[in-house]
Amino acid sequence: MSKKKILYDGKAKTIFEGPTLDTVIQYFKDDATANNAEKHSIINGKGVLNNSISDYLMQKLNEIGIPTHYIKKLNMREQLVRKVEIIPVEFVVRNIAAGSIVKRLGLKEGNVFSRPLIEHYLKKDELGDPLINEDHILNFQWSTRNELEEMQEYGLRINDFLRGLFFGIGLKLVDFKIEFGRYYSEDGNSILLLADEISPDNCRLWDIKTNKKMDKDLFRQELGGLKEAYQEVANRLGIIPEKKNYSSAKPEIVK
Ligand code: UDP
Repeated sequence: MSKKKILYDGKAKTIFEGPTLDTVIQYFKDDATANNAEKHSIINGKGVLNNSISDYLMQKLNEIGIPTHYIKKLNMREQLVRKVEIIPVEFVVRNIAAGSIVKRLGLKEGNVFSRPLIEHYLKKDELGDPLINEDHILNFQWSTRNELEEMQEYGLRINDFLRGLFFGIGLKLVDFKIEFGRYYSEDGNSILLLADEISPDNCRLWDIKTNKKMDKDLFRQELGGLKEAYQEVANRLGIIPEKKNYSSAKPEIVK
């Protein structure tokens, strides 16, 4: 394993320098956090499962024409991705009421929305990622109007596609969070790419028959069985684990 420099150390992933200037390596950790990192645990094998699940879903999204930062999976814990300038807005797409919207608006968990609902949150841990609207995004120039329209449209396309894909394996896609970044070409122009990851860490997935939760709510709500649930999602997607030893493949870290 070559020595790699850390560019950013996040809650569930570390970003390392890539082999070329326009790439970085995403390393999936076993850390699970909730309530803005107030709650923290290590769940052996979570990173390996999320790397495989996100790898699979990003490839599928590429295939249907959603531009993503994904290039290839390198090993059990790492992906090579395009280096982007992250837009500081988290896009949450909701199909069914769950999580923060239930508390905020006094909804009943499980209510199905008549159409998908898009929400925006400012990506700022110090402020607890506050809910913002489109006017904030444009007024504070976190994105241009064209970028915002493009991201909303991608959000709905991704939702339609993933909802069908998960339905096909007996899971309801309740909601999910996505992030986008600007990728600069040599001529200085930028294009939007879907970035970060798509995994049960940032989706809510419920079993169609039993409504059993199969996502990070198992950790947030201390229900247990998170690794088994993520493994079940991977199995249903048809992802074959490469090796049983999840704790291997740790890169040497150079600061
Ligand atoms: N989410 C995420 N990262 C965050 C906040 C939310 O990935 O920092 C995901 C979360 O897993 C869920 C969706 O976005 O699938 C909606 O989350 P919600 O706003 O309900 O917040 P939460 O209940 O997670 O605090």
